[in-house]
Amino acid sequence: MLIIKDKTFVPFITADAIQARIQELASQINRDYADRQPLIVGVLNGSVLFAADLMKHLTIPCEITFIRVKSYTATESTGELKQILGLSEPVEGRDLIVVEDIVDTGLTICDVCNQLRAQSPASLAIATLLFKPAALKKPVDLQYVGFEIENRFVVGYGLDYDGLGRNTPDILVLAS
Ligand code: 5GP
Ligand code: MG
Ligand code: MG
Repeated sequence: MLIIKDKTFVPFITADAIQARIQELASQINRDYADRQPLIVGVLNGSVLFAADLMKHLTIPCEITFIRVKSYTATESTGELKQILGLSEPVEGRDLIVVEDIVDTGLTICDVCNQLRAQSPASLAIATLLFKPAALKKPVDLQYVGFEIENRFVVGYGLDYDGLGRNTPDILVLAS
């Protein structure tokens, strides 16, 4: 159990299950990109642990960079995306893999991908640790999904509640 401010969170996905699934996703990426050198674009802050653990299992030559965006206030998506830290690498002609912590309404990932597509990459794939299909507001094509989850608020393993709770090896869910 984890208490952050006024909220109580209970165990949801164990660290072992997360790590096992990440190894599977990495194997898939290693196969799919066997003859390419992708540019991995982690979306901060939420994807910090997922991106770090995923890259440890990538055996293909790849570059890794990060962008930082924010679209969330407390437990509700605002749908307003602020790009705080931009990408310095040229993406034209590159094979991009955007790494996200979670796709909820899909507004953030759509906005990020549109901004990246405007710079003419050769290809663009999305890897997200978590996906809430019931919350989706915009159709989005997700190539690598760790776990499909129900529409509940989760924290841990990079995901925060009001800036707190990112630093756990497992994922917890808001107690109902
Ligand atoms: P979207 O734009 O898809 O609605 O939301 C994407 C962002 O909102 C994610 O990158 C993440 O930072 C945040 N988010 C969405 N759902 C959750 C959740 O259940 N827990 C936490 N901590 N953040 C979430
Ligand atoms: Mg995110
Ligand atoms: Mg957040």
